[in-house]
Amino acid sequence: MTGRIHSIQSLAALDGPGVRFAVFFQGCNLRCGCCHNPDTWDIHGGHEASASELVEKAKRYKEYFGKEGGITLSGGEPLLQAEFAEEIFKLSKEAGINTCLDTSGSILNDSVKRLLNYTDRVLLDIKYTSDELYKKHVGCEMNKVLDFLAYLDESAIPVTLRQVIIPTLNASEDNIKRLTAIANAHKCVDGTELLPFKKMCGIKYENLGINFPFLALPEPDRETMARLNSLL
Ligand code: SF4
Repeated sequence: MTGRIHSIQSLAALDGPGVRFAVFFQGCNLRCGCCHNPDTWDIHGGHEASASELVEKAKRYKEYFGKEGGITLSGGEPLLQAEFAEEIFKLSKEAGINTCLDTSGSILNDSVKRLLNYTDRVLLDIKYTSDELYKKHVGCEMNKVLDFLAYLDESAIPVTLRQVIIPTLNASEDNIKRLTAIANAHKCVDGTELLPFKKMCGIKYENLGINFPFLALPEPDRETMARLNSLL
């Protein structure tokens, strides 16, 4: 089976536990104002790759994975090509490779549920803790993500919640309290990570000739990140 991918990172350190072989899928159904990968949005972009070819490549790095590492599917949005993702995870499990899915959690259908049967961990990028901000700066209802999280809880799939911290939008104590409440309400959540908003991706928007909606927003300073992290 084949699908469309943007790129591969052979030894990724930031895309799940341990060292990981990360596959970035092409195509995204959302338009987050803070997105640092706008070049993954177009489902017709990127290039075609086969599930078996990707897993064969991942196998070459198995000795680096150790106990925690493995393969991560990220994007873009891997759930848009759930059957392709399922095939990659099935073959990975057959090869004894741990599987991790990095997603916005905005799609839940039968194909996604089948994919989750082969998923060892989900990195759930929960963008905001308010429906208003979700509708304005992501392009979907927050309930979709909460429904997805409820399904992960029912299925007992370990989840790391992740949120990009953006001054003026979610860099507040109230937001962290709401995020912590969401984490505490779901047994499947065993970690929460805050990531600082970065604007290095501005050049990608320029090259694509599209507007970077958050260009004028500041990046959070270290003190802000430390203060918010201490509240988790
Ligand atoms: S879900 Fe991810 S890839 Fe899609 S627009 Fe948002 S940040 Fe970008």
